[in-house]
Amino acid sequence: MARFDTVVKDGLVVIPYVGQIKMDIGIREGRIAALEDRIESTDASELVDASGKVVLPGGVDTHFHLGIYRDMAQDTESETTSSVVGGVTSVVSYARTGQHYLNKSGPYKEIFPEILERCAGHARIDYGFHLAPMLSEHIQEIPWLVNEMGVSSFKYFMFYKGFNLASDSRDAQAYTMSEDYDLGHLFEIMEKVAEVNATVPGRISVSLHCEQAELLRVFIERAKADPRVSGLAEYNAARPPLTERLSIEEAGVLADATKVNLNLLHLSSELALKTAMEVARRYPAMDMVRETTLHHLALACEDLEGKGLGGKVNPPIRDRSDNEALWAGLRHGLITTVASDHACCMEESKGDDLWPALPGFGGTALLYPVLISEGMHKRGIPLSRIVEVAAAAPAQAYNLYPRKGTIAVGSDADLAIVDLDLEQVVTTEVCHSAQDHTPFEGIAVKGWPTDTILRGEPVFRDGEVVDGNRGEYLHRSAQLVGA
Ligand SMILES: [Zn+2]
Repeated sequence: MARFDTVVKDGLVVIPYVGQIKMDIGIREGRIAALEDRIESTDASELVDASGKVVLPGGVDTHFHLGIYRDMAQDTESETTSSVVGGVTSVVSYARTGQHYLNKSGPYKEIFPEILERCAGHARIDYGFHLAPMLSEHIQEIPWLVNEMGVSSFKYFMFYKGFNLASDSRDAQAYTMSEDYDLGHLFEIMEKVAEVNATVPGRISVSLHCEQAELLRVFIERAKADPRVSGLAEYNAARPPLTERLSIEEAGVLADATKVNLNLLHLSSELALKTAMEVARRYPAMDMVRETTLHHLALACEDLEGKGLGGKVNPPIRDRSDNEALWAGLRHGLITTVASDHACCMEESKGDDLWPALPGFGGTALLYPVLISEGMHKRGIPLSRIVEVAAAAPAQAYNLYPRKGTIAVGSDADLAIVDLDLEQVVTTEVCHSAQDHTPFEGIAVKGWPTDTILRGEPVFRDGEVVDGNRGEYLHRSAQLVGA
């Protein structure tokens, strides 16, 4: 009998925090069972030839919105299919009560099992959830969510306050279906999360969308009245980096007071990153994750001018100088994680009118390709750094490491086998998402996965999606760490 179910042979293996090593990977029962200089072909039931390619840990895309604008089961299937194209084998999706998603409110004791039920059997890859406590009763549910349901991260939206800020045409209370959704509510979320964190070995954390509501009100009115700006440039002017700065400062004060683990999501600008670093230096003991997205790294307002509203997103697409500041931050460790913030949003939901257009778009198919093409090929960022920000660090931040996010004996055999020289122009067809447009359209990208392996079995083989929904719910409870 063969020693291994599958052997990935002759690839250059990239291990986060270690580097690149030429070796073979032996897989047994879905896990990595051996890393050896050379494993004989006769020791393998299945052989995957990785010669001339690099083998990366499967991407861990921890900013995702399964089912935000479409039926949850359908969206889970189509959008996790898109993930395998980008070498992603785990997603952690946001969910909340209020408008969109299930479009209702109520306790998570009722809502969360319904979300899980709707996704079950529809995911191509493994998936977990971050939840947003929208009601004060949700805060009381945090210990149960952590200990019983495997949810270890909780989101707060700094800008759902006052008048509506999702599109500015409806009021925030109707949108969130909550009552006191303000900094007092955030403070109580942080207190509860810190309290639970002290009782478990894992990392329980609060994730923040940082834009400041009152400043948005002023800048949105000014942008609307300014005839010189339109389209995505108008949107950028309406939600400038100053609103991120103030919101990060507010968050820093509260996180320091409560000693909570903090995740600053989708930092979009040079000013946002600079502010996050100022807060980190001011409070050296603070555990802070600093995330950016593919689109904030790779897309600029200047380049999307005249190309419609497909790139409308919160926070907005910024300028080329912001792209470069974020790439520099990624290189030097100031940016700690990169995610797609994938939200499948059809062209008809964008339309021609800036303000009612729904925010968000997909990008998970580009996670490794854009990081490799724009990061490694164009800017010389080493692959070892890329696997840290796209796999290891997000897995660590959200209680999935070392089961996910690395290549080690005992880890799940989640791998992306990448041809660094394969070049493709981004189209909707290449992305395999249900989304019928992409703001990345037309960009030439070099470095694509040819094969993606989930727990030892191919989900993407020779550039083709493999049928079957083998994805399992990721129970991110503290007990699972190191299991
Ligand atoms: Zn998001």
